[in-house]
Amino acid sequence: MPEPSGQPRGRRSPRLVTAEVLRTERLTPRMTRVVLGGPGLDGFGADEFTDHYLKLQFPRPGVEYPESFDLGRIREELPREQWPLTRTYTVRRWDAGERELWVDFVVHGDEGVAGPWAANVKPGEPLRFAGPGGAYAPAADAEWHLLAGDESALPAIAAALERLPAGARARAFVEVAGPEEEQKLETAGDVELTWLHRGGARVGERLLAAVRGLDLGGDVQAFVHGEAGFVKELRRLLVRERGLPKGRTSISGYWRLGCNEDAWQAVKREFDPPT
Ligand SMILES: Cc1cc2nc3c(=O)[nH]c(=O)nc-3n(C[C@H](O)[C@H](O)[C@H](O)COP(=O)(O)OP(=O)(O)OC[C@H]3O[C@@H](n4cnc5c(N)ncnc54)[C@H](O)[C@@H]3O)c2cc1C
Repeated sequence: MPEPSGQPRGRRSPRLVTAEVLRTERLTPRMTRVVLGGPGLDGFGADEFTDHYLKLQFPRPGVEYPESFDLGRIREELPREQWPLTRTYTVRRWDAGERELWVDFVVHGDEGVAGPWAANVKPGEPLRFAGPGGAYAPAADAEWHLLAGDESALPAIAAALERLPAGARARAFVEVAGPEEEQKLETAGDVELTWLHRGGARVGERLLAAVRGLDLGGDVQAFVHGEAGFVKELRRLLVRERGLPKGRTSISGYWRLGCNEDAWQAVKREFDPPT
């Protein structure tokens, strides 16, 4: 039977890294940075892509796990409803010299696992994860870059902008709840950054309107992520209507309104098949 991630049973379980929370920083009212460190990060690497991500493993309260926290053993010995919960987060920055790993969490209320964990976690606590995965980095040969997303994609967009060299052209659109959620982003590139304030609008509505109004001429590479409903509409616009080639797009739903990550991952391919 397939696992929630689509990984067949019996396949080798990923090796987990155990890091330690060094400190947290409240970046904005709804965004908290958790800085991880510790010897578990020796040998870690996350330099190839700007959308590197981690599969964080949250133990379920009240369940006793083997001390090794070996996922293979856990999946063999415990019923599925006791397996740790998986939540996916971007590597905002990996600093090998300082051995620091930054992960920025949207704090979206009391619901869920990862958001509330980040809001309350204290230095010294462990965090286990698999990864990093990743697939996108700004292509050096693209004429220009389009980056669009909500808060959940802001860490990846920020990392991509930091990677752009002088002279690289980009338009970036980030939709956040309001002006208090804007962050200072660094780039050497020639970037026009637009913050869109959601206010009372549906998530992604303002992003859709902004991207729809763009002239997409030239060889553009697009990075579009966030709530799955608007991402699906933007995929239709960019790929079907405007004909952006597959090799020039990174488009996927990071989360889904009304679904936790387990439920979203289970229906993701059916809801918005990759083109
Ligand atoms: C590759 C990838 C990279 C990602 N990187 C990041 C990242 O760097 N930072 C980040 O914050 N998120 C990121 N996400 C999104 C994150 O995995 C989801 O938001 C996840 O559902 C949060 O888990 P949770 O336990 O807090 O909430 P869940 O238990 O999954 O969900 C509980 C409820 O909260 C709602 N919810 C979930 N996320 C949000 C949100 N952002 N805003 C409002 N409501 C929400 C759900 O719809 C659900 O109703 C990424 C996702 C992917 C696939």
